[in-house]
Amino acid sequence: MFCYQCQETAKNTGCAIKGVCGKPEETSNLQDLLIFTLKGISIYGEKLKKLGSADRTNDDFINQSLFATITNGNWDNARFTAMIQEALSRMNRIKSKFLAAYKEKNGHDFDGSLPGAATWTADDPTVFAEKAKCVGVLTTKNEDVRSLRELLIIGLKGIAAYTDHAAILGFQKDEINDFIMEALASTTKDLSVDEMTALVMKAGETAVAAMALLDEANTTSYGNPGITEVNIGVGKNPGILISGHDLKDIEELLKQTEDTGIDIYTHGEMLPANYYPAFKKYDHLIGNYGGSWWHQNKEFESFNGPVLLTTNCLVPLKKNNTYLDRLFTTGVVGYEGAVHIPDRPADGSKDFSALIERARTCLPPTELEIGIITGGFAHNQVLALADKVVEAVKSGAIKRFVVMAGCDGRQKSRSYYTDVANNLPKDSVILTAGCAKYRYNKLALGDIAGIPRVLDAGQCNDSYSLVLIAMKLKEVFGLKDINDLPISYNIAWYEQKAVTVLLALLFLGVKGIRLGPTLPAFLSPTVVNMLVEKFDIKPIGMVEEDIASMMAGK
Ligand code: SF4
Ligand code: SF4
Repeated sequence: MFCYQCQETAKNTGCAIKGVCGKPEETSNLQDLLIFTLKGISIYGEKLKKLGSADRTNDDFINQSLFATITNGNWDNARFTAMIQEALSRMNRIKSKFLAAYKEKNGHDFDGSLPGAATWTADDPTVFAEKAKCVGVLTTKNEDVRSLRELLIIGLKGIAAYTDHAAILGFQKDEINDFIMEALASTTKDLSVDEMTALVMKAGETAVAAMALLDEANTTSYGNPGITEVNIGVGKNPGILISGHDLKDIEELLKQTEDTGIDIYTHGEMLPANYYPAFKKYDHLIGNYGGSWWHQNKEFESFNGPVLLTTNCLVPLKKNNTYLDRLFTTGVVGYEGAVHIPDRPADGSKDFSALIERARTCLPPTELEIGIITGGFAHNQVLALADKVVEAVKSGAIKRFVVMAGCDGRQKSRSYYTDVANNLPKDSVILTAGCAKYRYNKLALGDIAGIPRVLDAGQCNDSYSLVLIAMKLKEVFGLKDINDLPISYNIAWYEQKAVTVLLALLFLGVKGIRLGPTLPAFLSPTVVNMLVEKFDIKPIGMVEEDIASMMAGK
């Protein structure tokens, strides 16, 4: 195996024996083979589109498969094997469509050459393990080509995740799906560095489109998030804990648990669900339990009730865990031994009755803490406060905004983010999204003229809100360049969606981003230099020096 897609990769080089995340070699190899088969589908998909007969039947499958390979998403080898089998039969179908369309258009059979991803097929899954060994990341020998290809694929994983969430709510955009195919197919071609770099930039543009689409899907379906005080204590009823990002799942779970005497709590990235009007109306949505994803081994124990993982991040259970028999997965998530809730039927809902029955047999959650955290500062809410914010900037009450979005993670060095939050001057405001917020959203950082000093826009995809807020401020202050705003970017990354957000920011022309706690291992020295030259990306440094630089606009 070789995997270097997340920030915790071994020695910041690559996991080669077993993932630091716990991913076994077999799972990693199956994920590589799945990506290889998606490239096969995409090669034909791109060709069909060029012939003017775009095929849309594989869009959802490609997105869900890419999503399933995101760190801490799916641990179930049987699911990956089934996905590879499905990918191969989809490839054979789209190949036939292409060959027929080609002949019809050109009057003769296709006689061009095709990459291995478009020609390899197998009926017998027992050959998958062997094949998987020769299709991984390291098959691209040139370090810089490999780096640009993997940067693109890693960015695509986040785009696919956001696109899948939007599709679940009925929002689709062909341009996004076309690009995903074009980009997957591109990694099988001999392209110049300039061509590959252009594709990476186009991934940034597509990431903005995917986040905008998801924002539209979420706000159309559930209303605009507004300022909310979220309870972090517990009630007296048995509860169900829901984690991940899928808002349709929490909607259906809240409906199905109404008047059952079972309470619902969010965990990790599901916290922002509390900010939506459509969910706030449920009295049995009690609040948020615990912290970010990596605390789950302890927090799922003390929750006592069933836990539903709707997307990543699910971490491997400890051997002596007590919650495997109350762990439920759904969507792209999988874990051997957990109960998987099947997809909703067309025009129907998912059936959460097994989860609800399990909750009835459980004790209420054990209290971890009491109090509230405040959030709900997505674009609509912040723009409603625009006059107040602009006034505070003009009067000098707010000197600087610091965007600290992205992910949390286990490494000790992430205390940097708590220290930055604690030590930023009192006339600065933190704009956040994603689970990075758990490093500072329970600190008493106060407010500036009624504006809290930590403004949480929501999930990592809600970084889009932060972009809209920046655009609005640029307009209000009559600035030409987004980089002239009093905003610094200090992004914490862990997994692939944060890379997608980073590419979106680069596409929008944001310069001088600090990225930490380490620079991605998948960036070769040449690619890092290119990013430094073009975008002035920099690693994080010492807390005090970074704060001084950010406050000075550097
Ligand atoms: S996801 Fe991260 S920790 Fe897991 S195998 Fe890949 S690089 Fe290693
Ligand atoms: S921000 Fe990233 S790391 Fe954190 S829970 Fe969301 S997806 Fe996982």
